[in-house]
Amino acid sequence: MNIDTKCLHTGYEPHNGEPRQVPIYQSTTFKYDSSEEMGKLFDLEKSGYFYTRLQNPTNDTVAARIAAMEGGVAGMLTSSGQAANFFAVFNICEAGDHFIASSAIYGGTYNLFGVTMKKMGIECTFVDPQISEEDLQKCFKENTKCVFGETITNPTVSIFDIEKFAKIAHKNGVPLIIDNTFATPINCRPIEWGCDIVTHSTTKYMDGHGVSVGGAIVDSGNFDWSAHAEKFPGLTTPDASYHGITYTEKFGKLAYITKATSQLMRDLGSIQSPQNAFYLNLGLESLAVRMKRHCENALAVAKFLENCEDVAWVKYAGLENDENYALAQKYCPNGTCGVLAFALKGSREKAEKFMDSLKLAIIATHVADARTCLLHPASHTHRQLTDEQLKEAGIDKDLIRFSVGLEDAQDIIADLKQALAASEA
Ligand SMILES: *Cc1c(COP(=O)(O)O)cnc(C)c1O
Repeated sequence: MNIDTKCLHTGYEPHNGEPRQVPIYQSTTFKYDSSEEMGKLFDLEKSGYFYTRLQNPTNDTVAARIAAMEGGVAGMLTSSGQAANFFAVFNICEAGDHFIASSAIYGGTYNLFGVTMKKMGIECTFVDPQISEEDLQKCFKENTKCVFGETITNPTVSIFDIEKFAKIAHKNGVPLIIDNTFATPINCRPIEWGCDIVTHSTTKYMDGHGVSVGGAIVDSGNFDWSAHAEKFPGLTTPDASYHGITYTEKFGKLAYITKATSQLMRDLGSIQSPQNAFYLNLGLESLAVRMKRHCENALAVAKFLENCEDVAWVKYAGLENDENYALAQKYCPNGTCGVLAFALKGSREKAEKFMDSLKLAIIATHVADARTCLLHPASHTHRQLTDEQLKEAGIDKDLIRFSVGLEDAQDIIADLKQALAASEA
């Protein structure tokens, strides 16, 4: 099946008389006839449902759909993108371990890795995504357990060189984890380029309508944990909390997701509600169509801004003269996403007047949504940073993140035109 078809059909095959649409299993618990049956579930001897914190049929259906779209063997949903990225790393890193992450990642993830996980005894080295292979190699330590990056960076919209990072990660016997939120599997499937584990904030394009916060993790099943058994004892040695089960022995290619579900979700409880999984699924069904439109609209807006007198620069990897154009052609040949970045000439006051004058596009702490929205990181999400710190994070103080929605492109451009004129006045 082509991915456009997978969006609508994979993961759920109703039988005679069953609902056509994925039903919501709004139930905390599930019924069994005997205590023996129940016992087998608790021992992971049988697969099935017993408590929604661990697994729920609605969630599993939606996770299976996302896994199929990404080309992975198994997936799971989490309550948010933050939980997905935390689980993805924490599933293979513990106190005393180290990992490497691109410095050009979502601010929330940067904070999670650099501050919160540090308090848990897990150290992260941030690297410039432009780093040479030699310099990247130098960042590896005895206790390095994974490498992390973002396909399209938020908010600087650069394209991550997945193959380069996968090659060096694998040379060092560790997996590459990619947050594929902005590209979505419609425009890039990192697993095809050597990535081992994919994460998502499903809150963005996958949901697409700004209705539910959620996350997902997909495992390619390709990383051979047993070949590097000494690095990943959590997967390759008996788990005392499950009567000595060894995940790699018992579950093979499903080891990573089984551990994350039966251990991390059990203990940390960041499950997505079945109701939200249902909303997410509605979003997935139209994802292919929406991404196409988001990209067409964003390209039209980028071209308009590129030719605007008042605009200092525009960053969109779909523009032929963009520094990321070649990488975008390689990893996202059908388009990148609807998010672009630009800056106006002149003062910050002028930029503020411009943003306040927009009528269709709204200022929002949201991105990758059906409705056009924008954010000025220096005065909104990153306002606690000095200009110098912003520079270190690779964020120009004048950068405006513009998330192009599904409206008519000409209406979005007309709104930009009138706001630019108003900011001159
Ligand atoms: C929003 C976002 C996150 C965090 O996701 P939440 O669903 O808000 O927790 C992670 N990564 C990227 C790239 C994001 O845009």
